[in-house]
Amino acid sequence: MQGAGWYNFGMQDGFGRHIDYLRISVTDRCSLRCVYCMPPEGVKLARHADMLSLEEILKVCEAAARLGINKFKITGGEPLERRGLTSFIHSLKRQSGVKTVTLTSNGAALCGFLDGLQKAGLDAVNISLDTLRPAVFRRITRSDGLENTLRAIEDVRKTPLALKINCVPLRGVNEDDIVPLAMFARHPAVTVRFIELMPLGLGAAFSPVPQDEVFARLRGAFGGLTPCGGPPGNGPASYYSAAGLAGKIGFISALSRSFCASCNRLRLTSMGLLKPCLSSDLSVDLKSALRGGGRGSVAGGGAGANAADIPADCMEKIEEAIRAAVMIKPAGHDFHAGGSRHKNKDMFRIGG
Ligand code: SAM
Ligand code: SF4
Repeated sequence: MQGAGWYNFGMQDGFGRHIDYLRISVTDRCSLRCVYCMPPEGVKLARHADMLSLEEILKVCEAAARLGINKFKITGGEPLERRGLTSFIHSLKRQSGVKTVTLTSNGAALCGFLDGLQKAGLDAVNISLDTLRPAVFRRITRSDGLENTLRAIEDVRKTPLALKINCVPLRGVNEDDIVPLAMFARHPAVTVRFIELMPLGLGAAFSPVPQDEVFARLRGAFGGLTPCGGPPGNGPASYYSAAGLAGKIGFISALSRSFCASCNRLRLTSMGLLKPCLSSDLSVDLKSALRGGGRGSVAGGGAGANAADIPADCMEKIEEAIRAAVMIKPAGHDFHAGGSRHKNKDMFRIGG
C-alpha cells in the first residue's frame, strides 16, 4: 500500500517512460464499417454482462488518476454508441487528478451530443475523416454519412473545443484527398493529422501511404512545411505550419517515425483488458480485479456492475493491476516484423 504522497510521482515503466495517458474503448460497436477497421457485418455483440459498466470504467480511471494518469481519451468503436457517455464524461472530468478528457469520434452522430459534451467538460474532439468525396467515403466507410461528419466538423468549429481531424491515407484509395483535407487547417483552431496505417486486423490488407509521401504532397501544395510545437494534446504527433494555414498539420507515423521511445499510454478495452501496447498480446484483466476475483492477472491474450456492486476494497487490486500493465509494457512495437501476428488485433477493440 502506497502513501498518498507517492502518487504525485506517477508511474514509470521498465524503460523509464512516464505513463500518464489512458485511452479507453467504451464500446466495440460502431455506426460505420471502415474497410481497414471493421468487417462489413459489424462485430458480434458482446453480452452487456461481459463489458465493463461505465461505473466500473470510472473506478479504473479513479485508480489510474491516483497513480498519476491525468489524460484520458474516450474512443471505441464509436464512443457515442455507448449509452450514458455524456454523464460518464461529466463524472470523469470531476474526478480528482483528471486533467483532460478528450473524445475520438467518426462524427456521424456528434452534432446531437455536442452541447451536452461541452457542458460535461469535454476538453477536445478528434474527428476521423479520410476523404471529402462522397463515393470514396462510401467505399471506405461503407456508409453514406459524409454530410454528417462534415456537419460535425463545422459544429465543433463553432465551439471553443480544440478540434483535430484525423485522416488515414490508404494507397490507391484516398491519396488525392490529402491536400483538400489539409485545407481544414486554414482555420486557426483546427489541426489536421495524417496517421500512417498500421498493419493491425483488417488494416493489414491495405497499404499505407508513408509519411514522406504525404509530406511531399503537402509541400508541393503549400510550398513548404515548418516544424512547430503542437497544440496541447497527448499524442506522438509531430507538427508543422504552412503558408496559408492558420492551423497546424500533424503526422503520426508509427512505421516510418516510430515514437515508441516516448510512448506514455495504456489502453483499456470495453471488456476490461488493460493493454500496454497496440502491437502486443499482453494484457492485464481488470474485470476480475473489479468484480472481486482477485488482482488482475496478466494474460497473453457476471453482470456489468453498478457503482453499488463494485467491492469497496477493489481500489488496491486495480492499482496493482495497473502497475502490472505498466511493468509489462514492451520497448516498442514489432510492426516491421511482418507476418500475420497482428491479424486478430482490432483497432475498434483496442481503442484506436
Ligand atoms: N470510431 C472512432 C473514429 O473513427 O474516430 C474512434 C475509433 S477509431 C478505431 C480511431 C481511429 O483509429 C480512427 O481515426 C481510425 O481511422 C484509426 N484506425 C483504425 N484502424 C487503423 C489502423 N490499422 N492504423 C491506423 N489507424 C487506424
Ligand atoms: Fe468505426 Fe472508427 Fe473503425 Fe471507422 S475507424 S469502423 S468509424 S471504429
